[in-house]
Amino acid sequence: MKMHNSSLQTTALLASYALMAVLSATAAGQEQKLPNVTILATGGTIAGTAAAATQVAGYTSAKVPVEQLIDAVPDLKKVANIKGEQVAQVASESMTNDVWLKLAKRINVLLAQQDVDGIVVTHGTDTLEETAYFLNLVVKSAKPVVLVGAMRPSTAISADGPFNIYNGVAVAASKASAGRGVLVSLNDQINGARDVTKMNTMTVDTFRAPDFGLVGYVVGGQPQFYRTSTRKHTTETEFDVTNVETLPAVDIVYGYANMNRIPLDAFVAAGDKGIIHAGVGDGSLAAQVKPALIEIRKKGVIIVRSSRTGGGPVVRNGEANDDDLDFVVSDTLSPQKARILLMLALTKTNNTKEIQRMFYTY
Ligand code: ASP
Repeated sequence: MKMHNSSLQTTALLASYALMAVLSATAAGQEQKLPNVTILATGGTIAGTAAAATQVAGYTSAKVPVEQLIDAVPDLKKVANIKGEQVAQVASESMTNDVWLKLAKRINVLLAQQDVDGIVVTHGTDTLEETAYFLNLVVKSAKPVVLVGAMRPSTAISADGPFNIYNGVAVAASKASAGRGVLVSLNDQINGARDVTKMNTMTVDTFRAPDFGLVGYVVGGQPQFYRTSTRKHTTETEFDVTNVETLPAVDIVYGYANMNRIPLDAFVAAGDKGIIHAGVGDGSLAAQVKPALIEIRKKGVIIVRSSRTGGGPVVRNGEANDDDLDFVVSDTLSPQKARILLMLALTKTNNTKEIQRMFYTY
């Protein structure tokens, strides 16, 4: 009788082990079916903390580590298998070319792996559009790369970060997002890296593409796309930063009434290889500054005429005779994005015709 009891117990135990094995195999099976998304954290307000829940200015950016950002959104696990890495921890006004190179190289390594389906980059909003455009030109994969940020720190009432991370992971996990270039997802909207810009100092709807519009929305955890940029990106570009350790020095000089040549001369004296002239209107050149630009070009420095207006193309041979002066025009790229394209262009060539082609291609 004693024997019988213990064999019954053993049978019950074995049955429960078998059941557990089946259940955990099913759980593992489900986990395997989810896409694998890696979140690369770089800092910003999305990782910011404030002393009070009502404080949305004057807080400290770049405090919360990536594991905590992930743990704050348990629903992420239903959308994808998530891994996190801390690539940097900076407020994005302090973003540098060096962090961009590190980030791009890491993304290219990860996306070359079969077990990585998409990347989300958490980032401060101030220079988010610049990092997005840089990655748009140097990521060598069609898999989704999505940048997300937040306007309110993680400690705020109605912090926008957690939902933006959730939506960003949903976009990165979707096959529909592949091949569209680097995307930016905040406030339920999806924008393309080339055309998006931050347009408001404080509101959560700050990211817009004023000339060309957004590319989609995130609805119920799924991206819905409506359009895509015609400009080449990612796998279609000629830029490769695998062996690039530093980018050529390029700076921006802002146009305004009573502008003078002092910053131009200072940048050239410091060794700049290119200058973005963020001119008024259609990239117009002030009479007192034009001779400086002509001199600087003769020294071999590349001059790109761009516009501070925030919309419209800078027309070649419009406000200046670019063919005679050997200048380049930025087309519809903002000055801050023209700086990125010129840096990358200078890793390939100093030929202004080639550089102008790149500005009409990307
Ligand atoms: N200054 C912050 C940053 O760019 C602003 C933000 O993230 O919203 O890091």
